[in-house]
Amino acid sequence: MRLSAPRGTRDIKDREVLVFRELEAAALDAFRRWGYEELRTPIFESRELFRRAVGETTDIVEKEMFDFTDRGDRELSLRPEGTAGVVRAYLEHSWDKTGGIRKLFYMGPMFRAERPQAGRYREFWQIGAESFGNPSPQEDADTIMLAAHILKWAGLEWKDLCFHVNSLGCQECRPKYRIALASYLENRRATLCENCRARIERNPLRALDCKIDGPTMTDAPAPVGSLCQACKAHFDEVKFYLNRPELGFVFQESPRLVRGLDYYTRTVFEITTEGLGAQNAIGAGGRYDGLVKQMGGPEVPAIGFALGMDRVASLLKPREGNRILRVFFAFTGRSSNGAKATVWANVLRDKDRGEKRLGRPVAAILGDGGASLKSQMRKADGWGADVVVICGDEEGDKKKMRLKDMKTGAENDVDYSRDGDDDVWIDSLKILAST
Ligand SMILES: [Zn+2]
Ligand SMILES: [Zn+2]
Repeated sequence: MRLSAPRGTRDIKDREVLVFRELEAAALDAFRRWGYEELRTPIFESRELFRRAVGETTDIVEKEMFDFTDRGDRELSLRPEGTAGVVRAYLEHSWDKTGGIRKLFYMGPMFRAERPQAGRYREFWQIGAESFGNPSPQEDADTIMLAAHILKWAGLEWKDLCFHVNSLGCQECRPKYRIALASYLENRRATLCENCRARIERNPLRALDCKIDGPTMTDAPAPVGSLCQACKAHFDEVKFYLNRPELGFVFQESPRLVRGLDYYTRTVFEITTEGLGAQNAIGAGGRYDGLVKQMGGPEVPAIGFALGMDRVASLLKPREGNRILRVFFAFTGRSSNGAKATVWANVLRDKDRGEKRLGRPVAAILGDGGASLKSQMRKADGWGADVVVICGDEEGDKKKMRLKDMKTGAENDVDYSRDGDDDVWIDSLKILAST
């Protein structure tokens, strides 16, 4: 039997893994500038955590979690999202008692047993941010700008993205909206899918997210119509800050944007792109002022977001990967030739010596001196070498090395000890590789 990765998972490799790295680097850069610190929470947590944080009636908790029982009969789940674990950690470490403001980020895999389809995996990767302790509308705008900068620095342009912003109101005004929406849904009950009919009483907001009925409900009441004075003022301020022309930022107010999770209050946002067809959301977030309390803590305002790394990565091309010069050292069996190849490879890799002289990142590997030069050249090609440095018997005798450009086939003999400069051959490598 041939073993393969489990359904809905895959190995992240080759170009995709390069893009993941670059996306993570862009995020790290942005998080530092925005005052965030990293938090790595466990991949699995108690099932109860997600029931309480994400909500028992959500699709995630009802249908999509990977649940298991450990050998001590504890009920556990692979994390389906990142916020619950971060809030659990925030309370567990009493960070609410140290002045209040705490900004945390995470990167890693999440797990949901959804039906696998293009761009949607059962193990998917997220970059997330959670900011605790600041209830102000500036914080909302600032959080949206953070998400926007991560994407920009990763290589996406704001003009190719759409930032949707909406407000869902608070505990005061949300119930009013719920009633208005429920009565709208009740009126068209006959046309709704089975899920949405059940949602009318349990969670009418989720009907707007329905893939079947959502798109037809363009005349449904919007949350903004029911906002209380305080929520309306808050939302107006968020938009006011995001509209500062100096930011060079454009967003869209999307009145029917709701999020699939129960804990959001006031500002919610979603980032979409046209490049991915139906699965076009690449990130989303919002304010969740009630969640910390709901999880047994004090009243702590908070806002956060998560970016879907798999989808963002599918929009990017690797940058760093293209610049790395891949050099293969081929040599024949003599120990003196093997010694040279070993020394040269290490000289070339040296940050302050070879790589510095070369002026670009390098990857160098050694061939198998016990094999023929011909066989080593084949392996160099299979590895994807840009240049092969050859030291066979003939070269060794003449104190020469032969450089071969694998793309053009051009060759160049270099007398490596001329001028008394041990590293002069690197200049020839550089010239050869740049043609
Ligand atoms: Zn309100
Ligand atoms: Zn529906």
